[in-house]
Amino acid sequence: MAKTVAIAIDGPAGAGKSTIARRIAKEMGYYYVDTGAIYRTVAYFMDLLGVSPKDTDGVERYIDELTVQIEYDEDGLQHMIMNGMDVTGDIRTQDISQKASLISAQPVVREVLLDMQREVARQHNVVMDGRDIGTVVLPDANVKIFLTASAEVRAKRRTDELLAKGQKADFSRILQEIEQRDYQDTHRAIAPLKMCRDSVKVDTSEMTIEQVVQTIRNIITEKVG
Ligand code: C5P
Repeated sequence: MAKTVAIAIDGPAGAGKSTIARRIAKEMGYYYVDTGAIYRTVAYFMDLLGVSPKDTDGVERYIDELTVQIEYDEDGLQHMIMNGMDVTGDIRTQDISQKASLISAQPVVREVLLDMQREVARQHNVVMDGRDIGTVVLPDANVKIFLTASAEVRAKRRTDELLAKGQKADFSRILQEIEQRDYQDTHRAIAPLKMCRDSVKVDTSEMTIEQVVQTIRNIITEKVG
């Protein structure tokens, strides 16, 4: 099989990874893999069973009963299938965001998901986003980008996004949740969120989406042509 190309985009919650990664993947004709959605699916599954994300024994006991599949619809949107059921919409709540962050610190979860993520990248050209793609999942990725923005800017974007959808949004609560998730994701023992030496940092705090996309296109062209 021909060697595949991988573009890794890591960064904290709300930095714009999925918006940017999806755009770039579409332009390049690559698969877009949102790895956060996989952790969310595990969190959702355990939540349905009433297993706390901090309960290591419980998570270890039930993880084998979960089958996670990634499917793509005709628009290229990623769907998460949990034991045959499409849970794509169910995993996008604030509650599941926090539980995914906690459950992602469980070693057994990271171990199970590691092979799955690597397998997708072995078979397809990918733009993969997450927290540990450049550091752990695909250390040989052709391009590694660390996408970030200040916590205030990320909270403001999330607040505006919710308000635009007609939902309630409290900026200070969202900021607090983002800071808590940042703390958990950067302080866990296994595969914490951190920049690797060979990744290019892009701070999107003062940039429009178009400017970020253009910056990333330039980085990719420089690295892979
Ligand atoms: O990216 P998203 O916010 O959907 O991710 C949810 C949670 O999943 C993150 O807060 C993080 O704890 C975890 N995650 C991870 N490693 C990844 C992707 C996500 O630990 N590669």
